[in-house]
Amino acid sequence: MSDEFPLASPKKGSAGLTGYWRVIRPVIDFSKCTRCRLCILYCVENTIDQENNLYPRIDYDYCKGCGVCAQVCPTKAINMIPEVK
Ligand code: SF4
Ligand code: SF4
Repeated sequence: MSDEFPLASPKKGSAGLTGYWRVIRPVIDFSKCTRCRLCILYCVENTIDQENNLYPRIDYDYCKGCGVCAQVCPTKAINMIPEVK
């Protein structure tokens, strides 16, 4: 996780990996992503990291599927897709 902001990193809790709760999953369309970092800043679970190429990477072990990242993305590069379980 990024160490530029004083945010806690997600950790496995007594309920297990919080990503198991998810019913919809954010999927990034990298052809629309401008690497603006807003999704990283706004992710309520701090589960989005930045790869070496500066594109965002979502940690699905902890993403709860809240959709905040999709809402704040200025280019609508993040689509919320139903989980297939
Ligand atoms: S908010 Fe959208 S455009 Fe910005 S880094 Fe995230 S996915 Fe890319
Ligand atoms: S759906 Fe919510 S928890 Fe998952 S990456 Fe987006 S903002 Fe973070």
